[in-house]
Amino acid sequence: MKSLSEKIAGIAPSATIEISNAAKRMAADGIDVISLSIGEPDFDTPAHIKEACIEALRRGETHYAPSAGIPALTNAIAEKLVRENGVPVKPDEVIVTCGAKDAIYEAMEAVLNPTDEVLVLDPSWVSYEPCARLAGAGVRHHALSTETFQVDDTLLDAVGPRTKMIVVNSPSNPSGAVLNGDSLRMIADICRDHDLFALSDEIYEKLVYGKEHVSLASLPGMAERTITVNGFSKAYAMTGWRIGYAAAPRPIVRQMEKVQQHTISHPTTFAMFGAVAAIEGPQDCVESMRREFERRRDYLIPALRDLGYATAPADGAFYAYVKVEGDDMAVARSWLHDAHVAVTPGTAFGTPGWLRLSYATSMESLKEVVGRIARV
Ligand code: PMP
Ligand code: GLU
Repeated sequence: MKSLSEKIAGIAPSATIEISNAAKRMAADGIDVISLSIGEPDFDTPAHIKEACIEALRRGETHYAPSAGIPALTNAIAEKLVRENGVPVKPDEVIVTCGAKDAIYEAMEAVLNPTDEVLVLDPSWVSYEPCARLAGAGVRHHALSTETFQVDDTLLDAVGPRTKMIVVNSPSNPSGAVLNGDSLRMIADICRDHDLFALSDEIYEKLVYGKEHVSLASLPGMAERTITVNGFSKAYAMTGWRIGYAAAPRPIVRQMEKVQQHTISHPTTFAMFGAVAAIEGPQDCVESMRREFERRRDYLIPALRDLGYATAPADGAFYAYVKVEGDDMAVARSWLHDAHVAVTPGTAFGTPGWLRLSYATSMESLKEVVGRIARV
């Protein structure tokens, strides 16, 4: 066989997905493993969303759709961004994608050239760097304080001559931190002063506990340089539907549309009708899932602290980010093999010495996990 793509060979597999696959294999072998490795709500998609999709299927919504998504959904998303997020967006500045992940990838393809660099704030979710590299660009990492997980003026030192885009993710996967007003203002100032694009991944916006989510694009002068990414996976328990979106200035969306036309065409037509129902239907399902995540957080974080672990703020998303002694990869291996608890090592997020535990699982499993960790 001839040699394969060096670009792809140089990209790490997704740690979150690989570890979750390993846990699934252990479970298939009859091992009583509890997986806190993947960030996926354990709830079923709310019934009215499923019904809207089934109804669309029955109506025959089984054909190609406009490549940026069905108008009912791009309209609903634009209205939502104006109404809830204070982001001035028109429907033709929205593109519906196969999950938020696809929106991130397409945005990077749309904006970056090989001489460009993307600035990523660590700890950072596992797929930002690979998406930038798939788009052929370079990546520069900036470590946030592991005390506050907020931005300070050292961020300015991380901006180089090639920096073209900064990736912001609040609430954060993996730290659970929610960026405060000062952090967002500092990022916005740097973007304006250095003419940078921002990719603001707001997929966890609905999952905040006692904090307020603010969209970066709502800050003065930011809508014209921000790609706001969001989706339905986390807020509506729709991970398998693969529906996400981006909102950005029209020239960026137009470029993303070309990537989409030549690769996936568009997300599944009838699934998009379910997403319309998610946005336009009752939102109490979102609040009841949020409250349940908060209840689990309120149990897990103090329980881990009682075991002697320091944890990151956990103000949003559904992750406990836990400081461990020694090599996080070794600790994660030992938890998996000795306690049958699967977690993701902080090395995968650019911060060795930490572990990420997803609490998107039942309270009963979380209690069992705490017992098992205490024993190892
Ligand atoms: N961004 C972050 C921070 C995530 O945790 C996830 C979860 N996979 C995604 C984007 C992608 O979500 P999806 O593709 O399921 O919409
Ligand atoms: N976002 C989730 C996680 O971080 C899902 C897996 C993935 O897409 O990485 O675990």
